[in-house]
Amino acid sequence: MTFKDFNFNDDLFQGISSMGFTTPTPIQEMAIPVILNGQDIIACAQTGTGKTGAYLLPVLDVIGKKDNKHHTSTLILAPTRELAQQIDQQVEGLAYFTGISSIAVFGGGDGSAYEQQRRGIQNNVNIIIATPGRLIAHLTSGVLKLNHVTHLVLDEADRMLDMGFYDDIMRIVSYLPKDRQTLLFSATMPGRIRTLAKKILNNPEQINIAISQPAVGIDQQIYRVHDAQKTPLLQTILKTGGYVSTIVFASRKEIVKSLTRELRAANLKVKAFHSDLEQKEREEILLDFKNRQLPVIIGTDALSRGIDVEGIDLVINYDVPGDPEDYIHRIGRTARAETTGTAITFVNHRDERRLKSIETLIEKPIRLMEVPDDLKSIEGPKPTEQPTKKRSNRRRWGNKGTPKKG
Ligand code: AMP
Repeated sequence: MTFKDFNFNDDLFQGISSMGFTTPTPIQEMAIPVILNGQDIIACAQTGTGKTGAYLLPVLDVIGKKDNKHHTSTLILAPTRELAQQIDQQVEGLAYFTGISSIAVFGGGDGSAYEQQRRGIQNNVNIIIATPGRLIAHLTSGVLKLNHVTHLVLDEADRMLDMGFYDDIMRIVSYLPKDRQTLLFSATMPGRIRTLAKKILNNPEQINIAISQPAVGIDQQIYRVHDAQKTPLLQTILKTGGYVSTIVFASRKEIVKSLTRELRAANLKVKAFHSDLEQKEREEILLDFKNRQLPVIIGTDALSRGIDVEGIDLVINYDVPGDPEDYIHRIGRTARAETTGTAITFVNHRDERRLKSIETLIEKPIRLMEVPDDLKSIEGPKPTEQPTKKRSNRRRWGNKGTPKKG
C-alpha cells in the first residue's frame, strides 16, 4: 500500500512527499480509511508507530476539502507541551502546501507566548493543538470559541488521565458541538480510558496494533548490581563507552536531580530534564541535545514518550521501569529510523520480578553483562540492612496482571 491509495488532495500529497513518507505505517493503514469514512475511533498505539500521521493526514484531507478555512475546525489535546509542539511541527510539515493554519497552545513561558496564542486564536487558526489546562484558560477568558469544531483528537489519552486532566477534558468537550468526529489515541487501554471513551465517542471503531517489539537494531543488555554500584558503573559507561548521545532514565524526579549532581561532580556534561523546569529551560536542553552540544540527558518516563531525536546511541535505565511497556518506550528512543543503538538496564535484587515481566513481553532473555572488576568490590547492603519489600510496590505490580503479548 502507498499513500496514493488514499486519494488525498494533491497539496496534502505534496506535504507527505516532502516529509519523506513513502509507505503508510500499520496504524496509518488501519486508521486512515476509517477516519476518512467519518467514524470515531479508539486506537491503541505507541509513540514511534506513526500515530500522529494516522490522525493528521485524514483530518487535513477532510478539512482541506471543506470551505472552513475561516474557523477553528480541529482541536487536538495532548498531555505535554513537548508533545503539543511535536504534533504542531508535523502539522506544519504535512500541511505546508494546503494553506491550513495551526498553533500549539500550552502553559508556561512568558506573557508574550500567551499573547501570541491569543492572537492565533482570535485569527481563527484552523487547528489548535493544546494542553488541557492552558486551553481552559483561553476558553474562560472568552477569546476562544469552539463551536465550529468538527474534529476532536485526544493524543496519549492515558497520560492525560495520569496527569489529572479528566475534569479539564470533560469541560472542554462541553464547549464542542455534539456533531463532531472524535479520535482517541492511547498507548494503553486501562478501564478509565474506556469509561472516558463511552462518554465522548460515538460508536467508535476500535483499532489495535500489537505493542511494538523493540527495534531489532537495539543491543539490549543488563547489569545485575546493588544500589551502591549503580552510579560508579554509570560513570564508567559514560566515560569509556564512546557514546555520542545518551539518555539516562530514572524512575523519580528526585533521583534524576541527585544523579545529575553526582555526575556533574565527576566532570560529566549532563543535564536533568523534569517537570520543575521552566518551559524555556526544557526547550534549551532539548535543543542542545538535538544539536549534539549536550551529550547526556537524564529524565523520568515523561521524556520517553515525548522525545523524537535521531542518533541517540545509548539509553540507560538507572532502574527497571515499573511497567514493562515503559521499558519498550524508553529503549525505543535509540535505534530510531532503522539505525542501531544500545540499551543498558541496571537491575538490583528488588527489580528482578520487573525484569522477568519485561523478558516475558519481549519474548527473550536480555544479555547479562559482567560488572567491571574495579566495581565488584563496592559493597551492597549487609543482610540485616536488606530493605523490606514495600507492600505498595507489590500491589501496583500485581494489579498490572500479566503483560500483554506482542
Ligand atoms: P509518531 O509515532 O507519530 O510520534 O511518529 C514517529 C516518527 O515517525 C515521526 O518522526 C514521524 O515523522 C515519522 N513517520 C510517521 N509516519 C511515517 C511514515 N509513513 N513513513 C516514515 N516516517 C513516518
